[in-house]
Amino acid sequence: MPELPEVETVRRGLSPVMEGAQIVRADIRREGLRWPFPDRMADRLTGARVQRLGRRSKYLLADLDTGETLITHLGMSGRLLISGHPLGKFHHDHPAPEKHDHVVLDMGNGARVTFNDPRRFGAMDLCETSGLEGHKLIRVLGPEPLGNAFDERYLVDALKHRNSPIKTALLDQGIIAGLGNIYVCEVLFRAGIHPARKASRLSSARISRLVPVIRDVLGEAIESGGSSLNDYRQADGELGYFQHNFRVYGREGQPCVTQGCAGKIRRITQSGRSTFYCAQCQR
Ligand SMILES: [Zn+2]
Repeated sequence: MPELPEVETVRRGLSPVMEGAQIVRADIRREGLRWPFPDRMADRLTGARVQRLGRRSKYLLADLDTGETLITHLGMSGRLLISGHPLGKFHHDHPAPEKHDHVVLDMGNGARVTFNDPRRFGAMDLCETSGLEGHKLIRVLGPEPLGNAFDERYLVDALKHRNSPIKTALLDQGIIAGLGNIYVCEVLFRAGIHPARKASRLSSARISRLVPVIRDVLGEAIESGGSSLNDYRQADGELGYFQHNFRVYGREGQPCVTQGCAGKIRRITQSGRSTFYCAQCQR
């Protein structure tokens, strides 16, 4: 499942082909994905110019000159592909539409953006840009972990009455927007905090320590996604999936990477999700 760094990488890959460009044709190839598509979606998109491509949590937000914003969520398996736009030495011709290509946008600059989603948990919606903060998907979100509203004071305050395990609390999108299972595991490992610890029992100092760690973990992942854009996207037109080096995630039974630690990475299930951690390093 794409997490915040993957979505940010997709945004950075798409902005040169979408920002400032007009949608000259919108081919909506089914009624909807996770939810039905908005009424007259093709009509509302056709002729609109993309003024800005932003992101809030894991939502891509294309602000249109019609006063509306196109909200896109990749869900579990959604992918956005670019074709027909020369980037560097690569040029991808438009492929024939595939079964799971659900929305195809042709841009005035010759680029085609295709939303492909085999499992169809993705979503697209249109809303007035001025009312975006009140949209049902957006209004429930806490602050952006890389934004200014997220700081030590905020997090200490948000967690002090939380009796759930710290792992579960950090996954709550109302507390931090866009932090998912993989990166929470990595964050807790780097911060040396056991995932089953109750959030309310952690000292302010340990909670505060999480803030720079969250920023670092996400920032590094975005950076490695960014460096993958040059060769990877241009090699096959697909955005947002890149090689990761996780320290605990997916490493059950393997030795801990901390120097001098003899521990092995363990896996437990919390709120139905796998948690990976080192019992020696995380207390
Ligand atoms: Zn360890």
